[in-house]
Amino acid sequence: MSRRLRFATQTARAVPPPRSGSRPLIPDVHLANVYVFEGLDQVDAVWEGRESGYVYGRFGTPNHTMLEETLAMLEGGEAGLVVASGMGALSAFLLGGLREGDHLVAGRDLYGATTALLREQAARWGVRVTFADATQAGSVESAITDATRAIFVEAVSNPLLRLADLPGLAAVARRRGLALLVDSTFASPALLRPLEHGATAVHHSATKYLSGHGDVTAGVLVGSRPLVDAARAEAVRIGLNLGPFDAWLTLRGVRTLALRMERHSANALHLARFLADRPEVVHVHYPGLPEHPQHALAGTLLRNGFGGMLSFELAGGAPAIERLFRALAGRSQSPPGEPLIPFAPSFGDVTTTWSYPARTSHRSLADDERAKLGIGPGLVRLSVGIEDVEDLKESLDLALRAAGA
Ligand code: PLP
Repeated sequence: MSRRLRFATQTARAVPPPRSGSRPLIPDVHLANVYVFEGLDQVDAVWEGRESGYVYGRFGTPNHTMLEETLAMLEGGEAGLVVASGMGALSAFLLGGLREGDHLVAGRDLYGATTALLREQAARWGVRVTFADATQAGSVESAITDATRAIFVEAVSNPLLRLADLPGLAAVARRRGLALLVDSTFASPALLRPLEHGATAVHHSATKYLSGHGDVTAGVLVGSRPLVDAARAEAVRIGLNLGPFDAWLTLRGVRTLALRMERHSANALHLARFLADRPEVVHVHYPGLPEHPQHALAGTLLRNGFGGMLSFELAGGAPAIERLFRALAGRSQSPPGEPLIPFAPSFGDVTTTWSYPARTSHRSLADDERAKLGIGPGLVRLSVGIEDVEDLKESLDLALRAAGA
């Protein structure tokens, strides 16, 4: 006999989803952070992975699974893990794969916060790191010791667009029995699939091209199932989990990745050529230009374009940067009052943005360290969006005139 529940009980109960014979075209957002079980046998079976199912938000949700499986497929890997940021993905790899006393050889050309994490946090975790020139496999190999367990590089480096010698590094890793982890954030799997070039695992800041619209902070790691399982165990314990709506947004972004990267790349190549001809610009860093020292390697590693990121050096150094800032910020375009190319220290958005590595992504490095890497006071990083490139050129033309004045 069913009895009528009282008002407060009625309001507190969740309504079960309606039944539908047809199914939605796109994934739902699964916000539930805990699942209901039919019996203790089922609790054990799901917990131990003998029966499929979800338990608790920190362990994962259907939105995580959908995103992880999609990204593993796009990278050509066995399994994927998505977490709350790119830094989280790297941390999960380090904690899952390395032990106290282990040694890592890392590329010198890295996002500044990554360098800081490898120096400071990794040291506290008992992992020693040596930095080497990843454009030369021999330089990385000579940094390997008996304690080395892994090599870590950015495939296309932030912010100087240097390419890691992936074929050479993969050969070294294979010969020496090491894992090769590649941060492929600048390229995305639409342009580069590091696992096809012999990497063991690949990670991204999904904050950038994968989500693509400047509205998510997320990270992903793809590799063999044991490697990803080990990273997942750490991520779940520490609590690196991404929110399910962010996983949903990232997957929505991924659906247009191929198209976006084509346009990002076409626009960036166009602007790289335009900038290379400007008297106010000393040097353009873009692997799609024949004068890039690794243009030939870029042709073998990257497909369907050279990416949307470029950097260039202004002849006038820091004072010219100030003038560039004022000129770009002052552009009143559509929507009124908004600069067409805003200063925004991230990248990979559909909108073109620019940044100044010395004061943003690489501010944690000392001046002389930046200088050694080649990140000078006149270096501008441009994240080229998907707009009409003629509008971008007009805006840059005016800004460069002001910067050079
Ligand atoms: N890797 C690269 C190349 C980056 O540029 C960044 C951030 O800018 C990261 C990793 C870190 O990603 P997140 O900010 O999502 O933690």
